Amino acid sequence: MQTLMEAVTYKNFINNKWVESSTGNLIKTVSPANTEDIVGYVQSSSEEDLNNAVEAADKAKKAWRRMGQVARGKLLFKVADLLEAKVDDIGKTMTREMGKTLPEAKGEVMRGVDVLRFYANEGLRKEGDVIPSSDTDALLITRRTPLGVVGVITPWNFPVAIPVWKIAPALVYGNTIVLKPATETAVTTAKVFQCFVEAGFPEGVINFVTGSGSVIGQKLIDHPLLNGITFTGSENVGKIVAKSAAERGVKFQLELGGKNPVIIAKDANLDLALEAVINGAFRSTGQKCTATSRVIVEEGIYEDFKKKLMEATKKITVGNGLNEGIWMGPCASESQFNTVNEYIQIGKEEGATLLMGGEVLQGGEYDNGFYITPGIFENVTLDMRIAQEEIFGPVIALIKASGLEEAIEMANNTKYGLSASIFTSDLNTIMDFMEEIETGLVRINAESAGVEYQSPFGGMKASSSGAREQGEAAKEFFTAIKTVFIKR
Ligand code: NAP
Repeated sequence: MQTLMEAVTYKNFINNKWVESSTGNLIKTVSPANTEDIVGYVQSSSEEDLNNAVEAADKAKKAWRRMGQVARGKLLFKVADLLEAKVDDIGKTMTREMGKTLPEAKGEVMRGVDVLRFYANEGLRKEGDVIPSSDTDALLITRRTPLGVVGVITPWNFPVAIPVWKIAPALVYGNTIVLKPATETAVTTAKVFQCFVEAGFPEGVINFVTGSGSVIGQKLIDHPLLNGITFTGSENVGKIVAKSAAERGVKFQLELGGKNPVIIAKDANLDLALEAVINGAFRSTGQKCTATSRVIVEEGIYEDFKKKLMEATKKITVGNGLNEGIWMGPCASESQFNTVNEYIQIGKEEGATLLMGGEVLQGGEYDNGFYITPGIFENVTLDMRIAQEEIFGPVIALIKASGLEEAIEMANNTKYGLSASIFTSDLNTIMDFMEEIETGLVRINAESAGVEYQSPFGGMKASSSGAREQGEAAKEFFTAIKTVFIKR
């Protein structure tokens, strides 16, 4: 039995002050590993609170823009140091609040630190180009300029990394921000935001407002003072964001769902492929947008791979991610747990064979949590919902392909296009896969869930829209180009 830890309360941060919501109401967040463990409380904000935040960000934008990129970058170095110093506390809070194991949670915090340092250094890079003019008495240049006020809306599955990889570039390129984090993990994100606060940004540049997505999230995306919106979350909400932003000519960036395939060719290194499938499908309890959810195996090695996969899956220890020796934590919330259970039922009803797992764990330490064992379906046909829809849980659809051409066709047979992997030792197969696969992230002999922050991140088809995130690509979204012609 876990000893319960302290519950903390966070206020909103608006115009450089921690303030209570005008509603006077709080939202409680609890651990999905043990619902008796109250992680903390955040403000249940009103539209008035949200308005105050956007207005503060709007007022601050001119001075922040004029402060210059180099000075803005220096502030991010400070945030990185502050975050690094809190890796243990924030890691533990994340494990309590969303369930991923402690090593994974701490790894995510350190990812946030690296991302901050990357964008701090971006502050030293060029802001434009000199273009030859046909007029020899003129200077023709481009100059990057910030969008202005950017709304940042984030999901619960990476409550540190995603807010950081959006806020850091937004700020260094000169935007002011209003962050509305996912409610389920708002305490973890508040602790990250506190590092930004402690770094000492000018009044109004950074604002943090918690509360219901359908109330203040919606108000944020519809706000007339907003100049840009960066959103990561579900496809349904993504559509609402896109519609609202497009109608008003507000620049938007969406990172949505995935149904990521891994193809295992006959000539693959099966041990390598096995490790990648286990990690890709079940780390973070399958709740990554890049998680492996379809495993497409070439006929000749199908039975052999299936046996290995089942043996390895059986060894996975499920429990509270704070405890040593636990490999997979609970689902992040009751609603996520219900969704996974529903898909297990749907798979069975559709006629797929549940080879193993997909069982709710009950009794003792499991009683107050949302635990489910990793599940593997076979005899999955492409028209089944479990082959097409994002489950966002620890469930694999194992699919047999007669050859590589069919495997790639199967991999592309979904509306999503975020990440895809292939395991093979044949260069021609690799070249064909790179050419034919319809995903933004193309992974060769590597798991589907892997992100390097210095490279562009994003998908194709229904998975993403707008400019890529991360790396230098983030500049495309967070800035506009001014073409300047200066005549002597
Ligand atoms: P979600 O339900 O769409 O919520 C995402 C955020 O939007 C939350 O902050 C939520 O607030 C807010 N929101 C809800 N309704 C809103 C509205 N009408 N207007 C404005 N904001 C609103 O998604 P989620 O369940 O948190 O996250 C899981 C999804 O994210 C999965 O589909 C996953 O694939 C996707 N994801 C994608 C990526 C990627 O990079 N492609 C990465 C991670 C996750 P509340 O929390 O208050 O509801």
